[in-house]
Amino acid sequence: MRIYDKFYINGQWVEPIGKGTSEVINPANGEISATVPYGNAEDVNAAVSAARNAFDSWSRTSAAERADFLRKIAIEGERRNADLTQTIIDELGMPIKNAAEFQVDSLAIICESFADKARQMEEQEEVGNSIIIKEPIGVCAMINPWNYPIWQLIGKVAPAIAAGCTMVVKAASQTPSHLFIFAEICDAVGLPAGVFNMVHGSGREIGGALSSHPDVDLVSFTGSTSAGVQVSNKAAPSVKRVCLELGGKSPFIITEEADLDAAINFGVDHVMVNTGQTCDALTRMIIHESRYEEAVELAKSKAENLVVGDPTDPGVFVGPMSSAGQKQSVLDYIDQAIADGARLVTGGTDMPAGLTSGNYVSPTIFADVTNDMTIAQEEVFGPVLVMIRYSDIDQAIEIANDTPYGLAAGVWAGDKDKATAIARRIRAGQCAINGGAPNHEAPFGGYKESGNGREFGVEGLHEYCELKAMQY
Ligand code: NAP
Repeated sequence: MRIYDKFYINGQWVEPIGKGTSEVINPANGEISATVPYGNAEDVNAAVSAARNAFDSWSRTSAAERADFLRKIAIEGERRNADLTQTIIDELGMPIKNAAEFQVDSLAIICESFADKARQMEEQEEVGNSIIIKEPIGVCAMINPWNYPIWQLIGKVAPAIAAGCTMVVKAASQTPSHLFIFAEICDAVGLPAGVFNMVHGSGREIGGALSSHPDVDLVSFTGSTSAGVQVSNKAAPSVKRVCLELGGKSPFIITEEADLDAAINFGVDHVMVNTGQTCDALTRMIIHESRYEEAVELAKSKAENLVVGDPTDPGVFVGPMSSAGQKQSVLDYIDQAIADGARLVTGGTDMPAGLTSGNYVSPTIFADVTNDMTIAQEEVFGPVLVMIRYSDIDQAIEIANDTPYGLAAGVWAGDKDKATAIARRIRAGQCAINGGAPNHEAPFGGYKESGNGREFGVEGLHEYCELKAMQY
């Protein structure tokens, strides 16, 4: 068991002011995997003050120096790879293969990506009699969810370092251990004191104090839409920038002439990876009526062949839900869908075969779903796919756009051009075309109630910049 009892503030491990502690529970077996300090708003004040004091000198370092620190973090992160992977398994229950590939390996990749972009901070543009430059926005507060902890952490920290910002980070209460290791990494590479600071505690208290703090210039928040609204409200009086990366209920349109086998394989995997706890999961599959029953059979067979179980087993694809509460919430959605008349094709509320304990939920598929049902409108955040019929493409697009969200989408059509034409009509920030892979050099973010920010790529750097025009 890991025991942490200090926060990393101003380049030192310091005694928290708030005296609480919190246990981190392994969702696969219910054991305590770590204990961490649970601080209060005074800890936030100390961390913000350190970040504020460090900003002036850090913001004047050269882009090359900051890129160098990012590369050192990448190397040190790789040295701590096994430790980080085990932590993600222990606190989140993500199966080992995905924990390594989607999370821990991303640390070095994203650091390298923003190390390359740091020099853009020193470029200037001339427009008429103006010189236009980018400057770091200042002190950044970063509030993260539990579902892809390292990916989300590095997607904020790396561009902030590249831009010359200083920061205070809070992880989700459920998954804090990786953040303590990341602080050890920043310390090991000699990142100047006050550039990176971390505190831990409840979203309401610590997150609220960060959001409203007058010395914070930007809040980058990833989480639920409801908490994102609260962050915005708290931030409004100080007119700070708020970047929101929120929830989704993403559609996947499969046309009549699509390669159905490939499309269903892609779609089921997309929903079930990380046990459905993925913000951009394509949870609403919208299929032409002429191929609907064929698609249902293919999806059933694919879901029933997924290996569910112990996340430390390299052969497992679907691990436990991240917490008992999350499991219960998913089971409630399944019950509600059945009550609303959706057809249960596979899965349901029973434990997956062969498992008797842990927060497991069977990969579940519903057919005969209409888009007005709760299961089609609300983010379930579990291994649950719904299949909806359409008769013509205008109707499919109308269904795709008919939610408050707009984070992601997918289209599988006869060819790339046909799929792209459909994708252009969907109100979402991302679209997978005929199974296209994610690209960390492209901007990621939502339309509508899925948020207003963009992470990754050049746009991810721009979130941490102010623009200045100097006229001569
Ligand atoms: P959450 O409950 O909104 O929590 C997210 C973070 O915000 C946690 O650190 C939480 O702290 C904190 N928080 C909670 N209430 C707050 C408040 N009033 N003020 C400030 N901070 C507050 O979300 P979650 O359950 O961790 O994560 C799942 C959600 O994140 C899903 O909706 C998912 O779609 C979304 N998500 C979006 C993206 C994206 O890029 N768009 C990526 C991943 C996840 P505590 O843990 O201490 O409560």
